[in-house]
Amino acid sequence: MSKQANLTQIKTNIKEACKKAGRSEADVHLVAVTKTIDVAGIKELYDLGIRDFGENRVDVFLEKYEALQDFSDIRWHFIGSLQTRKVKQIIDKVDFIHSLDRASLAEEIEKRAEKPVRCFLQLNVSGEESKHGFTKESALVFLKQADFKQIEIVGLMTMAPITENENDLHDIFHALNEAGVEIAALHLNRVTASELSMGMTNDYSIAVEEGATYIRVGRALVND
Ligand SMILES: *Cc1c(COP(=O)(O)O)cnc(C)c1O
Repeated sequence: MSKQANLTQIKTNIKEACKKAGRSEADVHLVAVTKTIDVAGIKELYDLGIRDFGENRVDVFLEKYEALQDFSDIRWHFIGSLQTRKVKQIIDKVDFIHSLDRASLAEEIEKRAEKPVRCFLQLNVSGEESKHGFTKESALVFLKQADFKQIEIVGLMTMAPITENENDLHDIFHALNEAGVEIAALHLNRVTASELSMGMTNDYSIAVEEGATYIRVGRALVND
C-alpha cells in the first residue's frame, strides 16, 4: 500500500480506539518512526501532513536532521536508547526525548541543554530484563530528589513486550497511565507528566484505548 493508504488506515484505527475509550482524537499525536524510511520517504510523509518524526539512532538522526533543515516546522523525537556521551550532539536539535531511562542521562542533559528539553521518563513496566528504564518505584525516588533546571518531564514512555496477548498489553499500558497519574499528582517542579508515549505498530490501538497521547509508529507506515 502507499504511504497515504497506510496513514489513512492508521488514522481510522486511532479514531476507532478513541471512540471505544471515549477520548478525543485531538489528544493522540502520531510520531512517524523513520528508522527504516529515507529522506525522500520523510518528505512524502511531510507532504501528507506529518510533522512529528522519531529516530532511535544518533548518527542517522543527525544525517536526516541536516538534510531536512529547511523543513523548520518538523518536530524531532529522539526515541532510542541514548548514550551519555552523545547527548551533546543532539540536545539542541531535538524537540522531545522519549528515552530518559536513567539518572546519569538526566544529569548530562541538564549539563548540556541551553534551553528547556521536553523529556519522557522511560519506565520498564513489563519488568523484562532486556528493557531499559525506571521501575515506578525508582522513578518516584528519582523525581522526588531531582531539581531540574532544563528538563521538563512532560510524560512517561514505555515499550511493551512483543506478544499477541491483548490483555497483557492492556495491563501494561494501563499501568503506565496509572503511574503517570500518580506522578503528576505530586506536582513536582518541572514534572507535569500528563503525556503518555506508548504504542507501536503492533499495539497502538490498545495503547490509545489506555490513554496514549503519543504513539510511535514505524512499520505500519511502510507496510505493503
Ligand atoms: C522502532 C521503534 C518504534 C516503532 O516500531 P514499529 O514496530 O516499527 O512501529 C517505536 N518506538 C521505538 C523506541 C522504536 O525503536
